[in-house]
Amino acid sequence: MPATERLYYNDSHLIEFEALVTDKTDRVSGWTAVTLDRTAFYPTGGGQPSDTGTLNGERVLECIEGEENGVLHVVQGRAPEVGATVKGRVDWPRRLDHMQQHTGQHILSQAFVTLFNAPTKSFRVLSDVCEIDIEINNPTDELIERAVELANNVIWEDRKITITNVTSEEAADLPLRKEPARQGELRLIEIEGFDLTPCGGTHAYRTGEVGMIVVRHWDRAKGLTRIEFAAGTRALADYRRANKTARAVAALYSASRDDAAKLTGRMVEENKELHRRVRGLEEIAAHVEANELWSSVSPNSAGLRIVNQIFNNRDAESLKHLAQALIAQPLTIALLGSRDKSDARLVFARSADAPGDMNALMRSACEVLNGRGGGKPDLAQGGGKNVEKIRDAIDAAASSLS
Ligand SMILES: [Zn+2]
Repeated sequence: MPATERLYYNDSHLIEFEALVTDKTDRVSGWTAVTLDRTAFYPTGGGQPSDTGTLNGERVLECIEGEENGVLHVVQGRAPEVGATVKGRVDWPRRLDHMQQHTGQHILSQAFVTLFNAPTKSFRVLSDVCEIDIEINNPTDELIERAVELANNVIWEDRKITITNVTSEEAADLPLRKEPARQGELRLIEIEGFDLTPCGGTHAYRTGEVGMIVVRHWDRAKGLTRIEFAAGTRALADYRRANKTARAVAALYSASRDDAAKLTGRMVEENKELHRRVRGLEEIAAHVEANELWSSVSPNSAGLRIVNQIFNNRDAESLKHLAQALIAQPLTIALLGSRDKSDARLVFARSADAPGDMNALMRSACEVLNGRGGGKPDLAQGGGKNVEKIRDAIDAAASSLS
């Protein structure tokens, strides 16, 4: 006689029951684990998370598989005494969700076997999607969608799902989708005319209850193909999220949802082209700007011009172009900086006939900015987060040169 009779084995839709408390133990968490003579609560196992609910109105946070010790119900709050009769209630929305995911997995896994002889190696119900890892040769979107289509047809045919208990000898002659994970009596789940597999989980009465299956994503993982899917209410929730995202993107283009991907692709291409054109124009502009800047600075007694300038919101590439245009002039040093809200950037450069080690100057300047940088004696780049110190950093470099 097992410690807990499992009511969910015979009826996955039973959510209210009465039972006798047979044992209770304190948990490290401070909650109490209660064992019952019978339960409708499914404990975590087989890739399916545990049910939640109440015992005499107190929250059951989790149920743990204790094998021959029965099912442990972790109760938050006042736990009932041993010998007491309790009323149990399973949270139905969570149970329905798990049944849809779990039954959906049986159907999807069998669809991959039927079409591609591709067995499922593992299964997990995660918080908002599920995963199966399958062994399939050369997966493509098209192959996976064919399995999804077959699975949905099986759902919409509303096939009956039955549970039978058989001995392992009887099971040996049956066309089971996967090898039983245990010895002794087996619980077989049959989807009429489609799938037969040993399983201890909770399943729908009929395939129609699963609603629909969608694949969100797939990729290769450790020699297998990992398929991220959602069934039933999760498929609907996923559709809502995906639709919201697609519509938000489409609204940026004042376009229809179905055109959004094409328009985004086109805009990315246009953006790359614009970048190339801007770079070309910046080089031309840098020469004009460099001439003006250079002319505005008077040479010192040694004939050296130190151009010392800070800009707003200018990127490192653009600063470098300007510095290069400046040092095309003889006896010139460019100490250029740019700042935005979070970053300060510097470019130091000198013409071949000018004195000074730009790399050394840059390292000292970057210490002031609390950042990093360096380069060669004639050209160095750097930056840091200490934006308000950019003027000090450049002035220090300038005064060490004069
Ligand atoms: Zn199952």
